[in-house]
Amino acid sequence: MDLTDESAVDLAVARAKDWLSRVAERPIAPAADVATVQEALGATLPPDPQAAVDVVGRLVAAVEPALIGSQSPRFYGWVIGGTHPVALAADWLVTAWDQNAAMRTTMPGTAAVEELAGTWLLDLLGLPASASVGFTTGATAANFAALAAARHRVLADAGWDVERDGLSGAPHVRVLAGAERHGSVDLALRYLGLGSAELAPADDQGRVDVPALATALADTTGPTIVVLQAGNLHSGAFDDVGSAARAAHAHGAWVHVDGAFGLWAAASPRLAHLADGLADADSWATDAHKTLNTPYDCGLAIVSRPADAVAALGAQASYLVDTATGHDPWTLVPEMSRRARGVPVWATLATLGRSGVVALVDGLVDAAQDLAAALRDVPGVAVLNDVVYTQVCVTFGDDERTAAVAAALRDDGEAYASTSRWRGVEVLRFSVSNAWTDAAEVRRTVDAVRRALGTVDRTA
Ligand SMILES: *Cc1c(COP(=O)(O)O)cnc(C)c1O
Repeated sequence: MDLTDESAVDLAVARAKDWLSRVAERPIAPAADVATVQEALGATLPPDPQAAVDVVGRLVAAVEPALIGSQSPRFYGWVIGGTHPVALAADWLVTAWDQNAAMRTTMPGTAAVEELAGTWLLDLLGLPASASVGFTTGATAANFAALAAARHRVLADAGWDVERDGLSGAPHVRVLAGAERHGSVDLALRYLGLGSAELAPADDQGRVDVPALATALADTTGPTIVVLQAGNLHSGAFDDVGSAARAAHAHGAWVHVDGAFGLWAAASPRLAHLADGLADADSWATDAHKTLNTPYDCGLAIVSRPADAVAALGAQASYLVDTATGHDPWTLVPEMSRRARGVPVWATLATLGRSGVVALVDGLVDAAQDLAAALRDVPGVAVLNDVVYTQVCVTFGDDERTAAVAAALRDDGEAYASTSRWRGVEVLRFSVSNAWTDAAEVRRTVDAVRRALGTVDRTA
């Protein structure tokens, strides 16, 4: 193997740059499907070696037509951030360095960078400086890791050693979550053997009803976990974490916050009212690949008392190095081996600085509010949510018409948003998550929506 086969790497870099130079203007939806890509690549394993540079060339030619332009500043699907150039550069270095980011003393370079990234993040988000930060693949894994720490603590407080004795015969762990929690919370609870959460009612913006939560907790004494949300997928709304945490802590419950894209509001003085009380929770999950605009994949599992994370996720093995000075990265996440995905986080924070992160988050909210205001002016469009953060949910009349406009918008190619169901109706959801979505991009987006509406009306 030639580790310096620069022709393959050079071609990859050149084609990657070419992709990035075109992605903002190319039609957003993929123009080819899975079968087409596989046909172009050839379905059978080559019997003999091929030149690496040729493989890279064929890979790019076959795959590019089937890529979705999710880095476009007019892409609003799901919750998907763009790619900051410095994060991309750092991510490439991570791959070239190929460190297993598991152990602190044996892989000090990347461990040092990730620790700094974690420390800076806690400072930016106003979370306890003593909390642990584990780098996961995303917020799903971060919810899992943080809730594993929660499960450990509430059962330990009830005198049960879940790491040693498992869940069979354990005291029942009550889990309460808001009716509009994200589906990944359900998955995390399922992976942890905790079953489905009891659901506390939500208000018209999807925020947990705190008095109802307090009532549900009223006769609780045993191990209890309360899962709250900072940033509702549809409305962007934030649970009142301060009040909910007070009610939960009065019953000894652990409070976890899923803030996959919303936790970043805590960095912005302007958005402080949304983040009020966030720091009172016991654990938090968020993503860097959404709001911070680092490439996939990077989530963060934050636990206020690191010993709870290490007890749940660490393991004893003589060949793994223990340190007195810091927690080995692998003891805070499910993976024992992983890439140093925290390095692009550090690079992005180092490039933006504090004011740059605030401007990034405020800019997303400004663009979302601009978009909502402009869409409200389009006849036949209704904005369903209070646009307090980055999410804008709209309808175009009945479900059928909303679906038709969504399809016409995708065919138009200029902008892309996700369809979903919220509060019983079909919606088109715009998630402003790309740092390059500015007022001009919003205008182009609204023009595209007007064109899509025109297409639907002409064919109706
Ligand atoms: C995206 C999202 C998740 C899951 O995050 P992944 O990074 O996709 O694993 C969890 N909660 C909320 C609110 C989200 O928006």
